[in-house]
Parts: sequence; structure tokens; C-alpha cells
Amino acid sequence: MRRLILSDIHANLDALEAVLNDAAGNWDEAVCCGDIVGYGASPVEAIEWTRRYADCLVRGNHDKACAGLLEMGDFNQAARASVLWTRAQLSAADMDWLKGLPAGPAFRADYQVVHGTPADEDEYAITAAEVEPIESHLLRTVCFAGHSHVQGGWSWQRGGLIPLSRPGFSESERVIDLDPDYLYLINPGSVGQPRDRDPRAAYAIWDTENRLLHFRRVRYDFRLAQGRILEAGLPEILAERLATGR
Ligand code: ZN
Repeated sequence: MRRLILSDIHANLDALEAVLNDAAGNWDEAVCCGDIVGYGASPVEAIEWTRRYADCLVRGNHDKACAGLLEMGDFNQAARASVLWTRAQLSAADMDWLKGLPAGPAFRADYQVVHGTPADEDEYAITAAEVEPIESHLLRTVCFAGHSHVQGGWSWQRGGLIPLSRPGFSESERVIDLDPDYLYLINPGSVGQPRDRDPRAAYAIWDTENRLLHFRRVRYDFRLAQGRILEAGLPEILAERLATGR
């Protein structure tokens, strides 16, 4: 089984299409760690793809906010503006679908999926200190998470917590051997708004048969996504950050 692991698409159709082109023919099932909408200017298309293809998915905080299920107290001005704009684009059916998205963790036989952490769907866990307490909540050997928009993750090995490395700026892939005796928290990175200083769209493919995880980065024409954001009248910062990956 080869699973396509996507997170934080954030209504960026151009990045999503680039990822799907790159991954074409290399996956059997899709997993989505949430934040399908918000920030970007193509929420309808992002929902359409996810609804059709994601075999396992959880909601993100932006999905919740757009669905009216989350107070926007923690959201900055640009995020709030994008929530209000997104709501105005969605049909009643899309809104109902967003409202009905499950909170993480979602479980399958050999993995679990969360947006933030297994303990709190809205929490960030990036550093070893933030990740370490999660161990007791890992009920499968592999847990996929999104939210931070930082590709990578951690493994719990005998010697302690070891970080997983992502592709360098000149590489398109980093392959990790998954040891069945270790636990893994894996963030595929953000398709639509990377924040790990690499503006390329991020995703992962998990090849269960060969126990390999492929972290991938894909160049796409972010100017197209920027143009859509500006044309929609969304805050300029949401377009600008796509060029820098910050
Ligand atoms: Zn997000």
C-alpha cells in the first residue's frame, strides 16, 4: 500500500495540482491531516478534491474556523479576513461537509492521523520538548500530523527522540527507513503554504510494503496562486509569503 500524505493544502490549487502531478501513479490511498481551506483563494477546488479522494482525514483549525466551529481569538487579521472570505465562497453543501469533518485523532489499523497533536488538535509540536510528552498518546507506530507547516518529524528510538530530516533545498526527496520497533510522528509539510523556509509544495508518500517514507518537495508556479489571492482581494501578506516559505 502506498499512501499519499497531504496536509495544510490551504486552498492553494496550484500547489495541489503540482503535488498530484508529481505523485501521479505512485499512490493507492490518500490521507489528509487538515486545513484544507483558509489563506488561499481556491477553497471550493480544495474541498472538491479532498472530499473525493481522501480515505482518511481530520479537520484543521482553519477548517473549523471557516465552518463556524472555532472562535477566531488566536487568528491574526489576515487569517480572519481569509476565514470570512472563504465562508462567502462556499455552498451550503461545502459548509456542511466542513462542519462534519472529524476531529483528530483518526485511527486506521496501522496509523493514526491528527492535525496538531494526538492530545490536542490545535496544539503545535515542533521541538523535542514539545514532542516528547506526546509518546503516551501514540496508539499506532506511525502518527501523521500537520498544523506547523514544517516538513519532518521525530522518531522514538532506544536512544531517545531523533529528528527526521527533510529534503535539502536542492533535493526533491528524502527517504526514511521506518523501523517497526520505533514510534514515528511524521509531518508531511504543507502543500499550500510551507513555513520551513522552502517555498516548494511539500508532501509525503508512505510505502507500507517497503517500510519507506518519502518526503517530497515540488516546485510550482506560486505566482499563479499569488495572483488568485490578490484578485480575490485577500490580504497581500498571504500572497507574499508563498514566495519565501515563511
Ligand atoms: Zn495550517
